[in-house]
Amino acid sequence: MINVFQPSLGKEEIAAIRKVFKSNWLGKGPITDQFEESFAKHIRVDKDLVNSINSCTEGLFQSMEVLNITTGDEVVLPTVSFVGAANAIVKSGARPVFCDVDPRTLNPTAEMIAEKITLRTRAIMVIHYGGYPCDMDGIMELAEDRGVNVIEDCACAVATQYKSKPVGTIGHIGIWSFDSMKTMVTCDGGMMWCRRKEHADWLKRNINFGMDFSSGMSKSESVDRNWWEFDVQQAGRRAIINDLTATLGLVQLGKLPKIVEWRNLVHNSYNVELADTGLVLPPILPDDCKATYYLYWVQLDKRDELAQYLRKKGIYSTFRYYPLHKVKYYNAWADLPNAEKAAKTTLCIPIHQSLSLEDVEYICDTIKEFMNNGHSDG
Ligand SMILES: *Cc1c(COP(=O)(O)O)cnc(C)c1O
Repeated sequence: MINVFQPSLGKEEIAAIRKVFKSNWLGKGPITDQFEESFAKHIRVDKDLVNSINSCTEGLFQSMEVLNITTGDEVVLPTVSFVGAANAIVKSGARPVFCDVDPRTLNPTAEMIAEKITLRTRAIMVIHYGGYPCDMDGIMELAEDRGVNVIEDCACAVATQYKSKPVGTIGHIGIWSFDSMKTMVTCDGGMMWCRRKEHADWLKRNINFGMDFSSGMSKSESVDRNWWEFDVQQAGRRAIINDLTATLGLVQLGKLPKIVEWRNLVHNSYNVELADTGLVLPPILPDDCKATYYLYWVQLDKRDELAQYLRKKGIYSTFRYYPLHKVKYYNAWADLPNAEKAAKTTLCIPIHQSLSLEDVEYICDTIKEFMNNGHSDG
């Protein structure tokens, strides 16, 4: 079976893990610091504004707390979004308000978000679908105009740039994921950037028991006072990463340019091979933008049949993300026609760094077979 997603961990990662084992320090330590510093460099921001976190989902929950979002508030997000994003909003006491998405990019536009903004709106939570950047200029203009915060879910967009700026650093909070299905893998883990230093500091405490980071265990080298004493400033919990996770992150971050280059090659091969099949392909990236190429999606009326056909031929495919306004739990019925249509017609086909060009050729041939053989009429 050819997978839709697949991690690519190898010798380099094993060697790095061996070193951490030998160091006898597995927890959050010097390697985690290095990883945060390297990631800050990657997204071209101050290291003090970046915190590693044990998952992007946890980061989404934390973002609600950082921004003090609570009962009576509303947060607008695209309905084509990650289930954990909606859960984070619900858990804060606020109401998730779902908006429609562009039919091709599956990203929300400023106009679609604007329709859902009320006096209760405290934040907009955007996602860069499949690593394709949202049109952030319009969204930021709207946010400033209405005085609301922008949270960027960059789980799929670790290498994406919008007008030469890394996404996740355009709004007020950005969160990345390195779970085992993402472009850069640490098994589980993520990174979080806050525009405001006081938010980054608050977060740093909140993911580490609310302890002041200059006290207690984290300053064990100090002999001026008893090192088992500590200060707590807020009732924080534990959502930090460890040096094993971080060492994977460092190696993967080093490989990221190559990973993205390969994904771009696969993406371009699909664009060429599938050009005349009648499928709707992902839109062309604007000139001054870069993508992660996390997903490759095609659109057609007979989506379900193509998915079944590919599966029989040993090719796995899927759809991201089932519209949240259709999930009963959120009790948020809305008329969002583009998302509804996309959910019926969009198929994500395999794209990852371990996919060979022979795989790509086989996938394209199989899709063409389906499109030419009248399967699309049946
Ligand atoms: C994977 C994903 C997440 C969650 O990331 P985790 O690190 O697994 O918690 C959030 N949002 C989007 C869009 C995702 O694809």
